[in-house]
Amino acid sequence: MKIKLCSNPICNNKIEGMGNNPQPLLNLKVKDSVCDRCNEEFVIPARLGEPVSELIESLILGFQKN
Ligand SMILES: [Zn+2]
Repeated sequence: MKIKLCSNPICNNKIEGMGNNPQPLLNLKVKDSVCDRCNEEFVIPARLGEPVSELIESLILGFQKN
């Protein structure tokens, strides 16, 4: 069984099971997925329209520019 890692650039957790769709938080490919922690902490609030903390957002965007 392959080990998948979380697609969140600021997270290195292993994904157990199917993982979670990272959109709309991250503009990633369909095969990308985030771990349960990132899903709960970042993705679900983003879907609900809650602002992601600026620190987290800048970290994520900063990593994506590379
Ligand atoms: Zn994660």
